[in-house]
Amino acid sequence: MSFRNFKVVSQVIFGRGSFNQLDEILAPKRSNSFVVFLVDDVFQNRPLAGRIPLHPEDLLIWVNVADEPKTRYVDSLTQQVRDFSATLPGGVIGVGGGSTMDLAKAVSLMLTNPGSAADYQGWDLIRNPAVYHVGVPTLSGTGAEVSRTTVLTGPVKKLGINSDYTVFDQIIMDPELIAGVPAAQRFYTGMDCYIHCVESLQGTYLNAFSQAYGEKAMVLCREVFLDPGEDSDDKLMIASYCGGMSIAYSQVGVCHALSYGLSFVLGLHHGIGNCVAFDYLEEFYPESVLEFRQMMDKAGVSLPRHLTSGLKESQMETMIDVALVMEPLWENALGKNWKTVMTRDRIRSLYTRM
Ligand code: NAD
Ligand code: ZN
Repeated sequence: MSFRNFKVVSQVIFGRGSFNQLDEILAPKRSNSFVVFLVDDVFQNRPLAGRIPLHPEDLLIWVNVADEPKTRYVDSLTQQVRDFSATLPGGVIGVGGGSTMDLAKAVSLMLTNPGSAADYQGWDLIRNPAVYHVGVPTLSGTGAEVSRTTVLTGPVKKLGINSDYTVFDQIIMDPELIAGVPAAQRFYTGMDCYIHCVESLQGTYLNAFSQAYGEKAMVLCREVFLDPGEDSDDKLMIASYCGGMSIAYSQVGVCHALSYGLSFVLGLHHGIGNCVAFDYLEEFYPESVLEFRQMMDKAGVSLPRHLTSGLKESQMETMIDVALVMEPLWENALGKNWKTVMTRDRIRSLYTRM
């Protein structure tokens, strides 16, 4: 038996207005060096744009996350930084949701490791430590701020660069930054956190570490989505952090496995893909699916339907293949004998209903 030696984020700031401390935090990284900011382009014409602590020698890149991050995009951003300066930056700062944070993690890794990001999709393939990197979430739920992965779609697979070097050196959790998120997006990404908790707490890999974080995150999600108050954004941000800590030491389950297939074949984003799948998983997570529907009613969100009805047979097969590859997720959800429980036909019938 070997236990996971889990690398955590070294420095964490939490609080309303804490974003103002970013300049001070970066000061020691600036001696003879510059800083790269990767900022979600949704902020281009918003007040946050004027609050980025940009010095004359720095590089600010607005990133677009209409598509989930691709290895090709990471490679071109990395090249942009190399073209800007022959020396390495003192820091790479990602300001945005899970996609932008993942881009910042990936660029910080690729600046010190040769080749394409696609060469490193997998587990522990990164050889050299990354450039110092900071995550500033502006959307909460994915747990990307605490995880040891950056999820990328490459030429042949959708798979993260999983490594200890991927983990942020610093995160700044300022609940004021998530105030302007559109309601549907807030719900989809928030439900990613709720589903992390469900799948961790109801999985066979559960242990006291994951349970402690998962139970607290679950309580916070319930408050945020069923009984919201003035401090809901603070709670959602901490729920995301705790949900991420919970799955880091356990695993996700049926919903995430199916969601991967949906996003690979249909291009659905992670949060909405999870919601689409979760609504059909009453047989696996009965009480949680009912609670999810209450949260959905309360948020006034309705899900897209009949997404798979027009699929070609070959696309359906690919979707089933992508879901089945996620072996640890199935094992966590259904136990060691999951292959006898979760057949191709059963996955197909689940997908057919979506
Ligand atoms: P996102 O980063 O893809 O952003 C979704 C939308 O919200 C975008 O249009 C973005 O511009 C907008 N947005 C972000 N912040 C905003 C704000 N404050 N105000 C208004 N609009 C805002 O969404 P997400 O759900 O946070 O992240 C999903 C991504 O995270 C996927 O690419 C997924 O693969 C990845 N992910 C990574 C991990 C990990 O551990 N690394 C875990 C789960 C998901
Ligand atoms: Zn997730």
